[in-house]
Amino acid sequence: MDFHVMTLFPEMVSQGLSTSILGRAMEKNLISLECINIRDYSADQKHHKVDDYTYGGGAGMLMQAQPVYDCYKSLESRIDPQHTKRVIYVTPQGSVFNQQMAMEFAKSDDLIFLCGHYEGIDERVLEEIVTDYVSIGDYVLTGGELPAMVMIDTISRLVPGVLNNDISAETESFTDGLLEYPQYSRPEEWMGKKVPPILLSGDHKKVDEWRLMMSLERTKERRPELYEAWMTAHPPKPPKRRRKRRKNTTAVDGTADTTIDSIKDNNADNVGVVQNSGNTNFEDVSSNDLGK
Ligand code: SAH
Repeated sequence: MDFHVMTLFPEMVSQGLSTSILGRAMEKNLISLECINIRDYSADQKHHKVDDYTYGGGAGMLMQAQPVYDCYKSLESRIDPQHTKRVIYVTPQGSVFNQQMAMEFAKSDDLIFLCGHYEGIDERVLEEIVTDYVSIGDYVLTGGELPAMVMIDTISRLVPGVLNNDISAETESFTDGLLEYPQYSRPEEWMGKKVPPILLSGDHKKVDEWRLMMSLERTKERRPELYEAWMTAHPPKPPKRRRKRRKNTTAVDGTADTTIDSIKDNNADNVGVVQNSGNTNFEDVSSNDLGK
């Protein structure tokens, strides 16, 4: 994955993304990052001017079309024409960035980010080169560098090999529409709070069920709109009738209910850690598809 950032402040982006996981990913050539200074393409040889007043009046300066266009053309000529690429203008007027968008962008060979500054950029060059308008949220920053960095960081984590353990990207918040379950590391007890016993049980099926329950509970509490969407996509199954147990048969129908009950029981002695569980509608959860 090759990232290219067109900006007036290239050091801000290159320095901000060169440490830790992304820095290592660049060393391993899993991703590359090129930051291009739009100012280098100014037709104004003397002052390297890139902005001017807006037509129609109003406060603030606007980045002019010419330096942005020439910068883009120079960059485009260096990208393999066989590569799939997108040109993303980071702007508060775009669709709001999320994990699904990141996954979509991660499929491209080359991603070009265009960062505005001041009042923004002359509309005509945007019409000419931009394929996607993307915002990081409903607020206005002074420039597009931080939004571009946010997106590059998020997308990089999805590039195979960038995270040591690829599984961690799969189970994370938003990947399946839910927030991630709470997690615990050593020691087993800290400040009187114990790790939920089920996590120490070694029973992977039960651990998975507990984690799904916690994900649902947490999402319901913190992001009710995501919870509603998940519940709509995983409609409750009609309650199963318990079959009468036949002689010599140990299997009981309605395994999900039984499991949820046992999870509830297991948590009962650990209310300090999972005290939010009181809000969970276990009936909702138990009648849903636990297999995700
Ligand atoms: N006048 C513009 C805002 C300009 S802010 C407007 O009202 O829409 C200057 C630059 O910062 C923008 O060109 C954009 O690149 C960047 N920016 C600001 N807020 C942003 C956000 N929420 N998401 C993405 N980019 C943003």
